[in-house]
Amino acid sequence: MAVLFISDLHLSSNRPGINQVFFQFLRERALRAPDLYILGDLFEYWAGDDDIGDPFNAQVVAALAECARGGTRILVMHGNRDFLFGPAFARASGARLVDDPVVLDLFGKKTVLTHGDALCTDDREYQAFRAEVRSESWKRAFLAQPLPERKRRIAALRARSEIEKKRKPAEIMDVNAGAVESLLRAHGYPRLIHGHTHRPARHEHRVDGRVCERWVLPDWYESGGVLVCDEKGCRAEKL
Ligand code: MN
Repeated sequence: MAVLFISDLHLSSNRPGINQVFFQFLRERALRAPDLYILGDLFEYWAGDDDIGDPFNAQVVAALAECARGGTRILVMHGNRDFLFGPAFARASGARLVDDPVVLDLFGKKTVLTHGDALCTDDREYQAFRAEVRSESWKRAFLAQPLPERKRRIAALRARSEIEKKRKPAEIMDVNAGAVESLLRAHGYPRLIHGHTHRPARHEHRVDGRVCERWVLPDWYESGGVLVCDEKGCRAEKL
């Protein structure tokens, strides 16, 4: 009975192949698991819960709901693409929204989960942007705009972010080692699982003489990938 972790699927109607991998994953692998954690960026973007009516969004939400009805507990963390998930999304999908970061006891091993973007502290421009858009006042004002206007603004933001990603050195878009150490220290040297950077790996950090494991989840661009954790530990699997 392993617990599953995925993130950075960036689902959109433009990539039907990977969508099928995800739907099959929900019908089979995830359905047999007690818990499925989705650690952010499930969707390429989420303009607000009133966009559940979009046919593709509705299809994903229905697939999640079917898996949840089958008995799997689905826990969803906000990513930087879908931080506007709200209570209506949770109700419709049968998922539970969880805080970032969240601490859990994973088969007796304390484990911290985070999307990962908050750890990328070398990218100061991004952290300033993140602080702005994650504020309640920004979200309220944004969600008060009509859905088509919100989609236009998101498209403009995504275009800008694509340009900036090419301009920025690759190192500043990875996690900052000091930020990782602070998080591990603050939570008593747990295991850490996160996504966001699209650099799947298992790292070891020595913090204050303690060795902590850090798992980075893969994105779902070329293929799907899941981190499988049980009482023996965690292992990465391709889908
Ligand atoms: Mn992300």
